[in-house]
Amino acid sequence: MQPTVTIIGGGFAGTEAAWAAANLGSRVLLYEMRPHRSTPVHRTGDLAELVCSNSFKSNRLTNASGVLKEEMRRLGSLVLAVAERYPVPAGEALAVDRQPFARAITDAVTNHPNITLIREEMTALPSDRPLIVATGPLTSDALAAALKPLIGDALHFYDAVAPTITQDSLDMSRIFRASRFNKTADPDRAATADGDYLNCPMSKEEYERFYHELLNAEKAELHEFEREDKTIYFEMCLPIEELAARGPKTCAYGPMKPIGLRDPITGRRPYAVVQLRPDNLEGTLWGMVGFQTRLKWGEQQRVFRLIPGLENAEFVRYGVMHRNTYICSPRLLDKGLMMKSQPGLFMAGQITGVEGYIESAATGLLAGINAHRWCKRLPPFIPPRETVLGSLLAYITETSPERFAPMNANFGLLPEPLEPARDKRERARQKSDRAINALERAIDAAKPTRVEIDSNH
Ligand SMILES: Cc1cc2nc3c(=O)[nH]c(=O)nc-3n(C[C@H](O)[C@H](O)[C@H](O)COP(=O)(O)OP(=O)(O)OC[C@H]3O[C@@H](n4cnc5c(N)ncnc54)[C@H](O)[C@@H]3O)c2cc1C
Repeated sequence: MQPTVTIIGGGFAGTEAAWAAANLGSRVLLYEMRPHRSTPVHRTGDLAELVCSNSFKSNRLTNASGVLKEEMRRLGSLVLAVAERYPVPAGEALAVDRQPFARAITDAVTNHPNITLIREEMTALPSDRPLIVATGPLTSDALAAALKPLIGDALHFYDAVAPTITQDSLDMSRIFRASRFNKTADPDRAATADGDYLNCPMSKEEYERFYHELLNAEKAELHEFEREDKTIYFEMCLPIEELAARGPKTCAYGPMKPIGLRDPITGRRPYAVVQLRPDNLEGTLWGMVGFQTRLKWGEQQRVFRLIPGLENAEFVRYGVMHRNTYICSPRLLDKGLMMKSQPGLFMAGQITGVEGYIESAATGLLAGINAHRWCKRLPPFIPPRETVLGSLLAYITETSPERFAPMNANFGLLPEPLEPARDKRERARQKSDRAINALERAIDAAKPTRVEIDSNH
C-alpha cells in the first residue's frame, strides 16, 4: 500500500518535505492555513512565501550557505530548483523574484500527483504517522497550544540571541582564558587550569569609548506585530544597548563585570571584561555572554569590533531579538528530526531551531526523506557530520539544552580538516570538498534518498 505522510505547514520546510516524500513514492497530505488564516507577516496564500528579504545568501562553495545549497541540490531540493528559475542579480548571493518564485513552488506542489494540499488551520495534532510539523517561526497559537503537552517548557516563543564569533577570527594575544574565581560552568566538572571562558579585558578608556559607541548605535526596529505584543519585554532578557542606556556603569557592573578575573598580561583586574563562551563542543564558535542585542547587523560589527581581541571578529550569527517559535531540539529530537519520545512524529524548519529560509528548507527536505523511510521501515538518513546539513543537525541536537539558541549554516559548525590549510579560503574549500564527497558517499549507501533519481514519476 502507498504510505501516507501528513505535513502541517506549507512554508519552506513543509513544501520541501512534501516534494521529497511524494517523489520518493509516498502519498502526501499537506495542510496550510493560509489564505483563510494568515500569520502577522505573510501577505499571500502562496506556499513558501518569502516574508522579508528575497536573498537566499551566498551561492559560492567557499561559503557554508553555498555548500548547504549544493548539498540540497544533490538531495533533490525543490526550493533550489525553482529559485534557479527565478533569479534576480545579487552578486555572489542567490536571490529570487519573490512572487513568481512562490507561485512556481505552489504550482509544483499542487500539480504533483502524489500531493493533496488542504487549506486548513490544524488546531490539534492528528494521530496520523508519519506526521511532519513544519509550522515555522509564527506557528498558529492553537497549534502551539496543542504542542505544549508533548513539549512542555521546551517550546520557546522569542529569540534573544547574542552574536556568535569564529575562533579563527579572535586575536588571542589580547584575550585570556579563565573562569570567574577559577570556577567551571559545569558544577560536576573540576575547573580546568585554563577555565571555560575567553575573556576580552578592557581598560577604562577602552570601556568608555565602547560605551559611547554602543549608546549611539542604530537599532533595528521591532515589527509592528512585535511592538503590539507586550509580553516581548517580559520574556526576553534586556538588550545590552538598553542596559547601557541606564547609565555609564551599568554594563561594567552587569555582563561586563570584571570580578573574579585577573588579566595575566597586566597581572591586574581589568576595568571591564567581555566574556565569550563556547557555542559548540569543538570550541570553534564563541558566543558573547550577555550581549543579546537589537542593534542593526552592520552596527554590531562596527561597535563589537572595538572590543580588544575582536578587532577582526567574524560574526557567523548576529544578535537578534524577535518573535520566533522553536523547540528545544537537543532535548527532543534525534538526528533524523524525529521526536525521541514520539515515533513517527517529525519536526522540520525554523521550529527546530535552525534559522533562515534555506536552513529551514534543508531540514524539510530531510524530514520528507526520513518520513518516507520511516514508512518503509528503513533507518533514517543522517547526513554525515562533515556536511553543512549534518553539522547543523549536530548543533540542534547536541548543544546543551540550557544554552540552545537558533543557528544558521556556517563553517564554524564543521569539524576542522585533519591538515587545515593556512589560507582561510583554502580551508573553506577543504571543508566544502569534504562535505560534498561525504554526502555523495552517504547517499550511495542509503538508497532511496536522492529525491530526483528515485522519483516515482
Ligand atoms: C518577520 C520575519 C522576517 C524574516 N526574515 C528573514 C530573512 O530576511 N531571511 C531569512 O532567511 N529568513 C527570514 N526569516 C525566517 C524565515 O521566515 C524562516 O526561516 C522560514 O520561512 C522558515 O521556514 P518554515 O517552513 O519553518 O516556516 P514558514 O516558511 O513560516 O512556513 C510555515 C507555514 O506554516 C503555516 N502554519 C502555521 N501554523 C499552521 C497551522 N496551525 N496549520 C496549518 N498551517 C500552519 C504558515 O502559514 C506557514 O505557511 C524571517 C522570519 C520572520 C518571522
